[in-house]
Amino acid sequence: MKIVISSGHGLYIRGASDILDEVDEARRVVPNVADLLRASGHQVVTFNDNVSTTQDENLHRIVDFHNSQTRDLDVSVHFNAYEHNSKPMGAEVCYVTQEDVAGRLSKAIADAAQLPDRGPKYRGDLFFLNNTEMPAVLIETCFVDSTVDADHYHANFGRICQAIADVAMGPITEPEPPEDRPETCYKPLFVEKGSCSWFGGPEDSGVSPSEGLAFIYSTDQAPQLFLDEQPAGTTGLARRLDPEVFYLACRWNYDVTPKEMLDDRDKVALVMSTKTGKAFPAWPADWGPHSDTNRVADLSPGLMGALGIETDDEVAVIYPVSSRTNLKAKVQTQLAAPKIEEKPKVETPHPHPHKNPPKHKTSTKYKP
Ligand SMILES: [Zn+2]
Repeated sequence: MKIVISSGHGLYIRGASDILDEVDEARRVVPNVADLLRASGHQVVTFNDNVSTTQDENLHRIVDFHNSQTRDLDVSVHFNAYEHNSKPMGAEVCYVTQEDVAGRLSKAIADAAQLPDRGPKYRGDLFFLNNTEMPAVLIETCFVDSTVDADHYHANFGRICQAIADVAMGPITEPEPPEDRPETCYKPLFVEKGSCSWFGGPEDSGVSPSEGLAFIYSTDQAPQLFLDEQPAGTTGLARRLDPEVFYLACRWNYDVTPKEMLDDRDKVALVMSTKTGKAFPAWPADWGPHSDTNRVADLSPGLMGALGIETDDEVAVIYPVSSRTNLKAKVQTQLAAPKIEEKPKVETPHPHPHKNPPKHKTSTKYKP
């Protein structure tokens, strides 16, 4: 049995931190589990990312390391976070194909720590699970912000590491046959369906003249999105957006689609109208709309016009997509797929509470 086990996040890309620090503790668990596995005659390679300075780089570096190794199982060690509390929270293990291993790991860790077993958790949105090529599990050992979890973790550290090692040397479900992979390996990081509105540009009186954008801080960063001149009487980038360019805002989870990734001009979202069946690629430009609106996306006026839709019509959004693929087929596949669960912690920097539809323009001159 050969196992590659890595700590989540990195030296410069920190994870959750409260009573416990996720990165520090993952870096204690990994070598201890590895020693126990080696003592039982198994081959283990460990990895900590001490180099990456962006989240995107970090995710790729860890996955690239795993995929560079010959092994039977990939394990990523993380710690969970919710809110500072003194309740027992417990262990859970995320999986895409390895429900059985994840379930046994979660139970073994919970038993060893004498904490609740939150069980195996299907997560179709985690980069590590989606991009490692061998059977993989992502362990959320316990919660960094629960005083009970932290106490139990410290008191039972050796037993927890032994529990992980014991399950990791056990049987593993065979990976899917390679011929199935072309159909199944495409898993977008963001999938959402619901009603939409519009935002941005000189006519958007719903945002203040000085309002900025959540992850674009200057026109140089994404020149394709902006008008040549700042509209008179305004200073903020939200009002300088070119309403004819195809852009959108969604409530991105930056843990899954980091700001640096959303700002990458080569990655686009696909927005499809379920009413007209039309679909267009669009650039992420902001975070929003506020969850109080019950809408899932704010689009540029030009994109709404091209889709042939109005405020509160339904759209489906997936991200990221490559503009070379059959975009419409992909969105239809995704519409049939189970909805991705929203994580509890989401940044709320920039809501767009718009109510009224804009005057639609139909030009598509700058579409990505
Ligand atoms: Zn983590």
